[in-house]
Amino acid sequence: KETVLEVKDLVTTFKSADGPLPAVRGASFSVKKGETLCIVGESGCGKSITALSIMGLLPSNGMIADGSIFFNQKNLAEMSPKQMQKVRGNDVSMIFQEPMTALNPVFTVGFQIREPLMIHLKLSKKQAHMRGIELLKMVGIPSPVERMNQFPHELSGGMRQRVMIAIALSCNPSLLIADEPTTALDVTIQAQIIDLLNDLKEQLDMSMIMITHDMGVVAEIADRVIVMYAGEIIEEGRVEEIYENPQHPYTKGLLASVPNVDDPEFDLKPIVGSMPMLNEQISGCRFHPRCPFAFDKCMEKSPETFQVTDKQNVRCWLQEEGVEQNGGRRASSL
Ligand code: SF4
Ligand code: MG
Repeated sequence: KETVLEVKDLVTTFKSADGPLPAVRGASFSVKKGETLCIVGESGCGKSITALSIMGLLPSNGMIADGSIFFNQKNLAEMSPKQMQKVRGNDVSMIFQEPMTALNPVFTVGFQIREPLMIHLKLSKKQAHMRGIELLKMVGIPSPVERMNQFPHELSGGMRQRVMIAIALSCNPSLLIADEPTTALDVTIQAQIIDLLNDLKEQLDMSMIMITHDMGVVAEIADRVIVMYAGEIIEEGRVEEIYENPQHPYTKGLLASVPNVDDPEFDLKPIVGSMPMLNEQISGCRFHPRCPFAFDKCMEKSPETFQVTDKQNVRCWLQEEGVEQNGGRRASSL
């Protein structure tokens, strides 16, 4: 299938008194047509910043310092804010975690869904209204005609998120980026929204980037997975590869920390320690202070990326030929 998005060596930095601090440190990945790519990692790993870089929505103290973001053969990293606005209205859409902050509380659902249709697709108010009702129907909102006249506070969190999805889809995007879209919702509603996104993706033949810290969500939705840690992609693979044969110690830790609701004896094993701050200098592998398998080389040299299969890549010295995987020399002390 054709490649829709190709991110190459993306470096995104933030201004600080000590000079630019990198939040994304040379990320490369691609998304194919009709594919769902999940970007997973703890908060602060750079996954949201990667998405905002693609969208041209970085905060004013952030900038793309290096690399390229090719979307349908055009480099978004070089576009002006005005050009990016056009891309966002027509080709790429994004939904966020908290529906309440994304919908304006003083305008009706109808107003907010009509507006992008009138601006970007140049529909008349009446056409936009009809299309708005269709979109609400498509995202599974009951009594869409009545809903058009309601205000955001009259809807539940799940319904508000459905409205946000309807608005995001109003321009028929070929790529939808969803940043923790279900995190604020309760579990039953989460599952419904994930099902909805899966259905819509199929129905509309879209590509999707799903950003989450929740490996449970990944299992439900991903075709391929990227694991990020401290601004770097540390493992990439098909969803089956990541679940059945994870290679990076951090990926293994993430999977081990997924609570198993079917198993009452399940032991929750979070990864000990926390992610480094942006301004923290770490030699070698950025995970080494937390890694139970770290050995001398890890502290000296940033790991190369090693290929496990045609789709699975790992950034870890344990993959280097001749390195003995001894079960972790520091594992016993943790
Ligand atoms: Fe651990 Fe070393 Fe691999 Fe980094 S390179 S994840 S420290 S084993
Ligand atoms: Mg985030």
